[in-house]
Amino acid sequence: MTYENSLEFALKMDEQDELAGYRNKFHIPVIDGKETIYFTGNSLGLQPKSTIDYINTELQDWAKRGVEGHFNAKNPWFAYHEMFAKPIAKIVGAQPKEVVVMNNLTVNLNLLLVTFYRPTKSRYKILCEAKAFPSDQYALEMQVKNVGLNPNDAIIEIAPREGEKTIHNKDIIAAIEEAGDSLACVMIGGVNYFTGQVFDMKAITEAAHKVGANCGFDLAHGVGNIELKLHDWKVDFACWCSYKYLNSGPGGVAGVFINERHCNNTELPRFAGWWGQEKETRFLMKKGFKPMKSAEAWQMSNAPILSMAAHKAAIDIFDEVGMDKLLKKQKKLSGYLEFVVDDINSSLTDSDKSLEIITPRNWKERGCQVSVIAHGYGKDLFDKLTSEGVISDWREPNVIRMAPVPLYNSFEDIYRFGEILKKALN
Ligand SMILES: *Cc1c(COP(=O)(O)O)cnc(C)c1O
Repeated sequence: MTYENSLEFALKMDEQDELAGYRNKFHIPVIDGKETIYFTGNSLGLQPKSTIDYINTELQDWAKRGVEGHFNAKNPWFAYHEMFAKPIAKIVGAQPKEVVVMNNLTVNLNLLLVTFYRPTKSRYKILCEAKAFPSDQYALEMQVKNVGLNPNDAIIEIAPREGEKTIHNKDIIAAIEEAGDSLACVMIGGVNYFTGQVFDMKAITEAAHKVGANCGFDLAHGVGNIELKLHDWKVDFACWCSYKYLNSGPGGVAGVFINERHCNNTELPRFAGWWGQEKETRFLMKKGFKPMKSAEAWQMSNAPILSMAAHKAAIDIFDEVGMDKLLKKQKKLSGYLEFVVDDINSSLTDSDKSLEIITPRNWKERGCQVSVIAHGYGKDLFDKLTSEGVISDWREPNVIRMAPVPLYNSFEDIYRFGEILKKALN
């Protein structure tokens, strides 16, 4: 694909974009009467215009029917989560029975570790990436302490090589092999939240299984962003949130994947509640937990319907578009952002200043996100971008993270961002 850093080119790309119409299905934040350039769909996705109607439907059913809504609502609440099985399975590459929508991300990560991190005296280590998202670090630290182990001994962290920003898949696999039969579990962010690097989940899973360890991924930055084939890759477990690329609203209900072979094993240890109980006996209120033979068996509580309704509005859009079209546009969009940043970088004349893209350039190793180090610049650069209507993410000391997303960002957004960036750099 040959790009040009010109308005004419960007407008031509938008004209040819089969998804261009979807932008109008979202509320684009406005500041001072002007639409912002919103590049933080990796942090909080925008609100679909349809969300309010989905939530209103449930509010009205609750008003009209009260408790009867569990069985008589337009979308009966007792089974509301079942509507997600097929569309979410398509997004993450799973069988419908392998996924369920429930709770929030870190809660789910902890619940999954209860099942999939089962340390023994000799096999007790858990492997993750260095500088994982803090919530994941805390979860792993306390899971390890909870079983009486020392995090410094039990947690293996894989870091980039000296002087590099991203991690070699080879190094992860080598560390797994080295840990060998001391390794109980691998739990990595499938897409690194900081660099946007996508890991080779298939190869990592294979390596983990070879040494007899379980393998799971936190897909907070992967779901709705990159191609996932969790079932085919034989991943044991995965979890994600719904408010980033999935646009389901702040703190929205999250989701998990549990491989079929584990779903069928009713003996697996887990935390439990009535919503994981076999349907036939769920409401008999009898003693004895009999888990369903699906990811639903890890559900504990009845569903937060208002949050589920917002999720449904967003997932219906994903289902209508399909991941194939999203991925096709995503590659062009992130490629265009990369091109524009490179183009502006090459025009910088002060040798102390430069823009370095730390996200892998190979599209197989990245999704929407492009992370840039602004060498020689400080937070005032970011403040200038913000004051000109660019909503992006700043990480100290000088990293800008941007994620143009295929559902509502345009090539024009990227061109206009480039013009604002040029001005802010000078
Ligand atoms: C966003 C994110 C979280 C946030 O966790 P919540 O439980 O939703 O607050 C956790 N882990 C990763 C990797 C994330 O990107």
